[in-house]
Amino acid sequence: MSDKKPELSAAMKRKLEPKKFTKNPILGTKFTIAISSAKGGVGKSTFATNLALALKHTGCKVGLLDADIYGPSVPKMFDINEKPKSDGQKLEPIVKYDIQCMSIGFLADQQTPMIWRGPMVTSAIKTFTQKVNWKDLDFIIVDMPPGTGDTQLTFSQEIKMDGAIIVSTPQEVALLDVKRGIKMFDKLGVKILGLVDNMSFFTGDDGKKYRIFGEGGVEQTAKEFKKEFLGEIPINPDVGRTSDQGKPIVEENPEHEISKIYLNFAEMVKKNYL
Ligand code: ADP
Repeated sequence: MSDKKPELSAAMKRKLEPKKFTKNPILGTKFTIAISSAKGGVGKSTFATNLALALKHTGCKVGLLDADIYGPSVPKMFDINEKPKSDGQKLEPIVKYDIQCMSIGFLADQQTPMIWRGPMVTSAIKTFTQKVNWKDLDFIIVDMPPGTGDTQLTFSQEIKMDGAIIVSTPQEVALLDVKRGIKMFDKLGVKILGLVDNMSFFTGDDGKKYRIFGEGGVEQTAKEFKKEFLGEIPINPDVGRTSDQGKPIVEENPEHEISKIYLNFAEMVKKNYL
């Protein structure tokens, strides 16, 4: 057991405590699930896109909301280049692979400087919760911004989330942030469905598993905070290749060993709610 329990900063505590949050449910869906990570680059978007597709394969109607302001991934991972249509009141999600999609990346091109993206957070949340014409969905999967900073906090406070899954790689440096993430969701009253250990190992040509980022850290963190450990996803080049080509692995090949892992996660999510 680690004795390093990171404290939220005083400023963060202040932000969390005095205010009564008014959380707006996203209209047009039964449930909203956040996919969160403490750090960038751990595979959060890869998980969110494949989980959305896996839920579709289990028979659910699914939306995918890319709320990662600073690094929207859905346009690339789903190969979407069009702008959403608007009737002047509401935006139409773009449907690809039978998933209703909305991304900050559809609204501002990826070259938009950071200085503009900050103020866009608030208006983006309002747009995503109230001004997108999501239709008859069982689940919206939200690809959250990484971290426990203002952006993440604003999203978690203002969007009514029915559950969160935290994705991490097993390095110590990522785990410290995961602990912060757990505390944030606990304080905000968002149910954490569990933790996923992504890029846990790769299997060499010799058939051996190489745990290059360390072993068991995510599972231990889950135990320490009494959260569910949902499982491991190995490193597999097909995962990156398919996402880069705009058709994530679950869509490209649902029979792939990695797709089966995502399908198991989807069954678990479905069982929790439907
Ligand atoms: P994040 O959303 O956390 O920033 P991404 O989902 O963009 O992370 O993933 C970061 C990189 O890691 C991408 O190039 C992605 O294709 C790759 N990746 C994610 N998960 C895996 C995996 N299990 N095996 C191989 N590559 C992966």
